Amino acid sequence: MRIVKKYGGSSVATIDKIKNIAQHLLERKNNVLKGEKCEIVVVLSAMGKTTNKLIELAKEITPSPNPRELDALMATGELQSIALLSIALENLGLKSISLSGSQVAIKTTGTHTKNKIETIDTKIIERYLNEDYIVVVAGFQGINIIGDTTTLGRGGSDTSAVALAATLNCDCEIYTDVKGIYSIDPRVYKDAKKIDKISYEEMMEMANLGAGVMEARAVEIGKKYGVKIYVGETLSLENGTYICDMNEIIEKRVVSGISINENVIMVSIEQFSNFPKNVSILFSLLAKNGINVDMISQSDVSDIKGHIAFTCPGTDEIILDKSLVELKKEFPDIIVGKRRDVGKISLVGIGMISNFGVAAKVFETLAETEISFHQCTTSEISISVIINKINIIKFVEKLAKNFSL
Ligand code: ADP
Ligand code: ASP
Ligand code: MG
Repeated sequence: MRIVKKYGGSSVATIDKIKNIAQHLLERKNNVLKGEKCEIVVVLSAMGKTTNKLIELAKEITPSPNPRELDALMATGELQSIALLSIALENLGLKSISLSGSQVAIKTTGTHTKNKIETIDTKIIERYLNEDYIVVVAGFQGINIIGDTTTLGRGGSDTSAVALAATLNCDCEIYTDVKGIYSIDPRVYKDAKKIDKISYEEMMEMANLGAGVMEARAVEIGKKYGVKIYVGETLSLENGTYICDMNEIIEKRVVSGISINENVIMVSIEQFSNFPKNVSILFSLLAKNGINVDMISQSDVSDIKGHIAFTCPGTDEIILDKSLVELKKEFPDIIVGKRRDVGKISLVGIGMISNFGVAAKVFETLAETEISFHQCTTSEISISVIINKINIIKFVEKLAKNFSL
């Protein structure tokens, strides 16, 4: 039996928690059938809010630290937790070794702070597994072609774990601070229902649209390489959620869950002559500055005094502000409005492909709650609306009732 087990930040926030995980791994090792090999690879996040604290330290010096150095700094968080777990495992008499991203040779490409895994060399891991070690790997980090430490973007330890499971050809268990994947973030809506099985597609969409419980890229890798992913609560005996192939879900729900994303900025530009050429200048400028544009709406094309609006992640705000200044130079007459008091609510469900009426019910719910929306988009398996933040709870509760979530 071979398994990759990943523990998130809150699960390794204290020494006691780390010792309890070590104890659990000891029991797991002891519980396997006689003669059966039990190969365990553990992937860890940094302890508690360590990554946030490291970023804050750098920002005490400058609001925009050099991304290479920020990567080097952030990666130290995971180095702490893996060494501590390894010490705890050895203390229980187990053989254990901690390995950084570069020691494993998790090779990455891309730009600092948002790298992608290119290859993983499993030689070292295989060697230690063969000698009965528990291998504890630092999540979230890798090494680039010139030998610099890199990180995979916030929440990236999920990706490290699933990518390792894919290369080691085994299942992946993700342990966190909730009992599994719920129809709605259980910290926002306490009556949310735990989901036993969810398809890769739905989980990917939910994660992309704001459900922070799993990183979307991790699910994408899981789907691509057929890695079975289990999400459950650290050290709990209660069943969690399996992320699996769509075909394994017999009864497809029309709507499986609701994602809430409060990290949204909505920009509206008035007095904008939205001829195709001008629209192209606008979005080329945003693209050049690396802004991830999400929803877009505009009044009639070729309207001289037109209006165009778009949304982007709140985390892009500094660069967005700079871009809007550049834009104003290009189009001096425009009136730009920026709102941070909005959020995106998305309903996700694989059954939307073959059922109609979901959008109608969403608009009925908006009508019932007398909430107006600013923007709306749909994909094959989701529908999203932008509403004011103060209305989010009220709307989500009503949606949950109307869609039995
Ligand atoms: P970890 O540090 O273990 O990676 P995260 O904070 O990244 O943990 O993810 C767990 C959190 O995800 C939960 O505490 C919960 O508030 C949030 N979450 C958001 N959407 C969902 C959902 N649909 N189901 C379960 N948890 C969710
Ligand atoms: N420690 C990193 C973060 O906080 C990676 C992770 O937890 O997955 O983003
Ligand atoms: Mg996480």
